[in-house]
Amino acid sequence: SCANTQEDQSPGRLIVLTGPSGVGKGTLMRSLLQRHPQLYYSVSVTTRSPRPGEIEGKNYYFISRSKFEQLIAKGEFLEWAEFAGNYYGTLRETVLNQVRSGKLVVLEIELEGARQIRTFFPHVLSIFILPPDFDELEKRIRGRGQDSEEAIARRLCRAKEEVKAAGEFDIKVVNDNFETALNAIETALFNSNS
Ligand code: 5GP
Repeated sequence: SCANTQEDQSPGRLIVLTGPSGVGKGTLMRSLLQRHPQLYYSVSVTTRSPRPGEIEGKNYYFISRSKFEQLIAKGEFLEWAEFAGNYYGTLRETVLNQVRSGKLVVLEIELEGARQIRTFFPHVLSIFILPPDFDELEKRIRGRGQDSEEAIARRLCRAKEEVKAAGEFDIKVVNDNFETALNAIETALFNSNS
C-alpha cells in the first residue's frame, strides 16, 4: 500500500552552474565530475568552432547554424541562447531522461539559459560563480589565448552584465581559492536540504 511514495523514487535533480566566461566554471566542473562520478554532465550543442583540444561529444556537439536552427524549430532544446555570436543549447530528451532515472544532472550554461531553466523547473538548484574581480577575470579570459580581441571584448562586456544577476541564484560562490570554491559547490549539492 505504500508503493509509489516519494521515498520510493530516486530523487533526480537538475543543477545549473552559471557564471561569466573566464570565471573558471569549466575547471570547477571538471573537478566536480572527477570527484563525483554519480553526477551526469549534460553535453551542450554549439555553433562555435572547437578550440584546440576540444572533443566532439565530450566538450560539445559542434554543429552548423542551420542545423541548430532546425533543432530549435523541432523543440529539441530544453533551453538555448546566443552568446558572443554563437548559439548554445541543452538537449531536452537527454537531460529529462537522466533526471527521471534519478540522476543529479549538471548544466554549465550562461545566464539567459539558466533563466529559461528556472521558469520550467522551479526546483532547480542554481549556482552562480563569481570572479574575485574584473581585472582577474580579464586576465583569465586573455590567458586562454584562444579568442580574438573582439571576442574577448564581447565576453568581458557580457561578464559585467551577467554578474549583476548573481542575486537571482540560490547559491553564490566566489572563485578566488579553487579548493574553497569547489567545497562550497559540493556542500550545496550534497549537504543541502532544499
Ligand atoms: P564557451 O564558448 O566559453 O565554451 O561558452 C560560452 C558560454 O556559453 C559559457 O558561459 C557557457 O557556460 C555557456 N554555455 C555552454 N553551453 C551552453 C548551453 O547549452 N546553453 C546555454 N544557455 N549556455 C551554454
